[in-house]
Amino acid sequence: MANNKVNILLVEDNPMQTRLIQKLLAKSENPSFDVTSVETLGAALEQLERQASDLILLDLMLPDSQSLETFFRVKAQAPDIPIIVQSALDDVNLAARAVDKGAHDYLVKDRITSTSLIRSIRYSIERMRARSGEWASSMFHLAQQQFLKAAYIMDLDDNIRQRLLFPERAQIVALPFRRDQREQVETVFGYRVQHVLNMGPTKGGIRYHQGVDLGEVSALAMWMTWKCALMCLPFGGAKGGVRVDPTALSRAELQRLTRRYTSAFIGMIGPEIDIPAPDMGTDEQIMAWILDTYSQQVGYSVPAVVTGKPVVLGGSLGRKEATGRGLVYLVEEAARHLGIPLKNATAVVQGFGNVGASAARFLSECGVKIIAVGDVSTNLYNRRGLDVDSLTDYVDEHRVLKGYPEAETLETPEMLELECDILVPAALQTQITSENAGRIKCKILAEGANGPTTLEADEILSERGIFVLPDVLGNAGGVTVSYFEWVQGIQNFMWPLEEINRRLRDILTDAFARTLQRAQQNSVDMRTAAMIEGLHRVTQAKLMRGLFP
Ligand code: GLU
Repeated sequence: MANNKVNILLVEDNPMQTRLIQKLLAKSENPSFDVTSVETLGAALEQLERQASDLILLDLMLPDSQSLETFFRVKAQAPDIPIIVQSALDDVNLAARAVDKGAHDYLVKDRITSTSLIRSIRYSIERMRARSGEWASSMFHLAQQQFLKAAYIMDLDDNIRQRLLFPERAQIVALPFRRDQREQVETVFGYRVQHVLNMGPTKGGIRYHQGVDLGEVSALAMWMTWKCALMCLPFGGAKGGVRVDPTALSRAELQRLTRRYTSAFIGMIGPEIDIPAPDMGTDEQIMAWILDTYSQQVGYSVPAVVTGKPVVLGGSLGRKEATGRGLVYLVEEAARHLGIPLKNATAVVQGFGNVGASAARFLSECGVKIIAVGDVSTNLYNRRGLDVDSLTDYVDEHRVLKGYPEAETLETPEMLELECDILVPAALQTQITSENAGRIKCKILAEGANGPTTLEADEILSERGIFVLPDVLGNAGGVTVSYFEWVQGIQNFMWPLEEINRRLRDILTDAFARTLQRAQQNSVDMRTAAMIEGLHRVTQAKLMRGLFP
């Protein structure tokens, strides 16, 4: 794009439509458009080789190529150029599938106006740019594609759709902290992203991991929005992170880094503003340091500034194991719906951190046999079932599962493909992809991690009839008990564990029933149904509040 001139390649075999697009774009001065139009796929591919374009407007039905094939051929030739698909009214479904496959947007021919056309072009180019550098994370891409799919199916208001594609507020800081060799100062990047600001304060964990970037944190913040809305919690979504390997730092270094992080974001967090919690690589000790640093700054103790803190500092009973416990409540609902008895059912759990270990514990309390577990160090398999208490004792002593005696070891792909009733990915993102989804042999996929399944894998799982408890539902137990902790904190209440677990089960069961009903009514998969359910609430809230000024 030079001098605010956008070069468009229009691939369209209907001359009337070509003229219409040219007319609509001719009106615009800032940016102005230079349209090159061709009528066939062959001519489009040649043109792309000859001259750079900023964006491609593509009709999928051409004389020499039809349907998604057209999209794939153009995309293969120009992977870095955004593509907007044009579709006729009776072909909207095809256009939506192209969006699933990576098209930036679609336009329905009979409804194109100059505003909708120019806006779609502008946003697509913005999104392409945003995918370079800091935003270039496969997770952010996944979160946006999932959102666009749900938005299309529910026919989401276009204004709301554009507003929700990116977070409302994001901050990046450089965080210097002293290593234990005092002369050495390390500088790492820290992030806090708030996706939606109109549902109440924002809420979401802080992740310490070497892969963290703005895109990843934004994806996680976006998922928090849908998760909180689906649970009907009075929060918008947020997330924070530091790009650092926490296992390479001493306890003292972690403390200095955490305090520096808190002070950098002091104006952005608070019980009425944005409430952090643990996520991958952080725990209740980190929350205690955040609480202390924040309280030192304001001059009095503010327990409600974080959740997931130690019980002695005002943490809630049941918060630590809430994500795993919630996931198992949902597995119980799913098993009842599918008619699978849990007694003697089998499960594979990937991840033995806070979420995986408690999920394994609660599953085995329901009578489920845990036949395999894995963590960063190894994967363990025992056909007769692993003893979760003894695994936990082993990890308490050795930090990781490696070396546990009463099991065979196996590779991660093999573990994920084991025949079982319940598969729980509770570790990293993008574990179930188009590559392995065809070989996954579970009946229920219960997502404890955020973003473990790609959009392509979703399609395959759905075709194969695997029942998915999507992350925004599956791991929502954590933020739900965080909400209880926050409520107890601001009102100085202390609820007993039975009350917390009862309320947790009520909220999750209700969200499960609403999601299942929507999935059945709209004939969509559980993930899309969960997102639509959350999106409805966010949309209603945005419309009711109106736009300032
Ligand atoms: N990090 C957790 C999540 O992804 C919990 C967030 C919270 O409790 O605020 O849901």
